[in-house]
Amino acid sequence: SAADEFLLLFTDVASPRDVVAAASRILGAINQPWRLGDSRVLVSASIGLAMYPVDGVDPSSLLENAHTAMRRAKEGGGGGLHFYVAALSSMAEARLQLEAELHAAIEDHQLTVHYQPQFDLQSSGIVGVEALARWAHPRLGHVDPTEFIRLAEETGLIVPLGRQVLRTATRQVAQWQCFSRDGLRLAVNVSARQFLDPSLTTEIEAALAESGLDAALLDIEVTETATLQHAREADAVLARLRSVGVAVTLDDFGTGYSSLSQLRELPISRLKIDRSFVSEIEHNESSAAIVRAVIDLAVAVGVGVVAEGVETREQLEFLRRLKCGEAQGYLLARPMPADACEALLRRGVQDRCGVARRGG
Ligand code: C2E
Ligand code: MG
Ligand code: MG
Repeated sequence: SAADEFLLLFTDVASPRDVVAAASRILGAINQPWRLGDSRVLVSASIGLAMYPVDGVDPSSLLENAHTAMRRAKEGGGGGLHFYVAALSSMAEARLQLEAELHAAIEDHQLTVHYQPQFDLQSSGIVGVEALARWAHPRLGHVDPTEFIRLAEETGLIVPLGRQVLRTATRQVAQWQCFSRDGLRLAVNVSARQFLDPSLTTEIEAALAESGLDAALLDIEVTETATLQHAREADAVLARLRSVGVAVTLDDFGTGYSSLSQLRELPISRLKIDRSFVSEIEHNESSAAIVRAVIDLAVAVGVGVVAEGVETREQLEFLRRLKCGEAQGYLLARPMPADACEALLRRGVQDRCGVARRGG
């Protein structure tokens, strides 16, 4: 009808997700600056989607419903994607909407990184920080990381998301080295899909080269379950990571099913005791026994051990008594934006950053 409206017909669609993926690619291709003579112009497009047969069984009702959806996408500010509501249950629609928005958030660099300090239990000093992805959604506010990370994992968006976190965090922590005498470690989470992605090691090498962060200070956190479910591939990935010189921590340790012999053979640097055991340490005998066993195990196989989710003094004292090396948790410090973390680091040691900057 109108000169700036186009109709695309997809056949052979297995699920609404296929349509979203195609539409997102189209939007991605259109929503970029174009060169027109000497100037750059920005073009945006809105897409409305209707699915056969839920949204209509004849061409005219399908077209009309796609049109309605497109108008709604336009009302949302343009550059967006909208389904005709009948196509999906409202929950599925919300999910697809979120998926499209997460895609856009990654492209627009809307995601930020927060940092949670990790403490040495002997010296009480900060020895490292864990990078945690954050998404402040313009309409929904702060989206729970477990939710958007799962969504990213299921859709493959975790790969570009992970790349951004890695780039941002390595650059940041390279700048913070002056706050630490022995090197400030950076822990970055890597999900199963990222872990098995063939580009992981090259991404890591690129981030290290670009930031200047020492490889030995980068600690890749991968969950016990992710590594063990893919034991054969995991061996090769771990070997490559080792050759790059980075450390590997098994996150959420105790919730999977590692065998002792596997542990002895895996080239890992650290075990991270899952929060569920730490939180019950004082009240549940078997949790306490598991924590004790993991610490002993770590000593036996010669790897470090970090307890996560420390929320009370009692838990902290308990871990100290058991000679747990390091701890992380709300009691000690919450995850925080970069500037707050920098202020904390600055208070911890003499500021050699300032001196270095004045000197050079
Ligand atoms: P995780 O790696 O086990 O991270 C620890 C989570 O526990 C974080 O949740 C942190 O905010 C929270 N936490 C820390 N101390 C305490 C405490 O004392 N009490 C309680 N109740 N919670 C505490 P968050 O930030 O919501 O992240 C959840 C999960 O999402 C992470 O679990 C990690 O698996 C994943 N994640 C976060 N950022 C990334 C990322 O950049 N890439 C990947 N692949 N996964 C990420
Ligand atoms: Mg972690
Ligand atoms: Mg964890």
